[in-house]
Amino acid sequence: MKTTGYAAYSADKPLAPYDFERRELRGNDVAIEILYSGVCHSDLHTARGDWGPYTAPLVPGHEIVGKVIAVGPDVEHYAVGDPVGVGCMVDSCQDCDQCDHGEEQYCRNGMTATYDSKDRITGEPTQGGYSKHIVVREEFVLAMPDGLDLSRAAPLLCAGITTYSPLRTWNVGPGSRVGVIGMGGLGHMAIKLAIALGAHVTVLSRSPSKEKDALELGADAVLISTDKDAMKAARNSLDLIIDTVPVKHDVTPYMPLLDVDGTLAIVGQVGPMEEFMTPPAIMGRRRIAGSLIGGIAETQEMLDFCGRMNILPECEMIKMDEINTAFDRMEKADVRYRFVIDMSSVDAPAA
Ligand code: NAP
Ligand code: ZN
Repeated sequence: MKTTGYAAYSADKPLAPYDFERRELRGNDVAIEILYSGVCHSDLHTARGDWGPYTAPLVPGHEIVGKVIAVGPDVEHYAVGDPVGVGCMVDSCQDCDQCDHGEEQYCRNGMTATYDSKDRITGEPTQGGYSKHIVVREEFVLAMPDGLDLSRAAPLLCAGITTYSPLRTWNVGPGSRVGVIGMGGLGHMAIKLAIALGAHVTVLSRSPSKEKDALELGADAVLISTDKDAMKAARNSLDLIIDTVPVKHDVTPYMPLLDVDGTLAIVGQVGPMEEFMTPPAIMGRRRIAGSLIGGIAETQEMLDFCGRMNILPECEMIKMDEINTAFDRMEKADVRYRFVIDMSSVDAPAA
């Protein structure tokens, strides 16, 4: 199938148009016309080479919402016309203990990422959601709940699940005290989801300009991380902190905010961190942990939860050819709070 989109050609060049082919449908494949594609900071990291070299052209995008346009003969759960989503993974071995218990993101044999990965059968590069179409095996296709505004739902497929998963892992519910560092795409979803789960939510931001928005989203408190007195007054006040900061940073100042046995879960920076001081961890049995997206079953659970509670990301809709400006703005944390590409801004290729 011919399709078209935007690709990264090298780390120091802007994204540019790219025509390419999607594979012929295998028995268990679903072909999707992409309607909306969220813009994750991971797309920027990948395209700009922050995570090392990649095989170009590379089509980013792993927050995908669209409708089914064709299914293979063995597909059981989807039919033409269904509204569906695709997140950060498109395949895994489906055979190991991690896949068996629904945590394909930790597949022992390595999950297949939506882009910058290799198809398990042909070895061809996988290409993501900044494109008109995608073909995905049905086990990695999510059902979009009835009534959820599709034009705003795409960021749930990465930002939503990446923050929902640690909230669930650390049993957040009524009475939990949750902190969120960085109010961007992931951070604002962490705030909304933690509130919906019943937690008391504190936002930790560098940006005083975001305080009003945080409170409007329902956060109970905002701490400006450079305000030393406020940080000191908030010691021992949190059970879980979700750290979404996308660059190397020092977690030391945040650790004393945790109560005894509290956990700081890093979901942001993938790479080296600044040296940190151990006393806050030792003097309070506080932990530093990490978390990667979430499994398919948990992603469906999150989507259904958002459907029931009508939880939607705050989106700035852009056209495909505005992606390079969007990347520059995201790098400056100047987005409220997720860019979503309206894929109708791209013409389908001639058949
Ligand atoms: P984003 O929308 O750019 O938000 C990041 C936020 O972090 C910003 O809004 C800003 O919040 C804060 N921030 C930015 N630069 C900072 C700096 N230099 N120092 C301190 N704080 C800074 O990014 P995102 O899409 O949420 O992604 C965040 C990170 O998560 C990225 O590194 C991405 O690759 C990673 N990620 C990980 C997973 C996973 O599975 N673990 C999944 C998806 C994404 P304030 O203005 O409030 O300070
Ligand atoms: Zn992402």
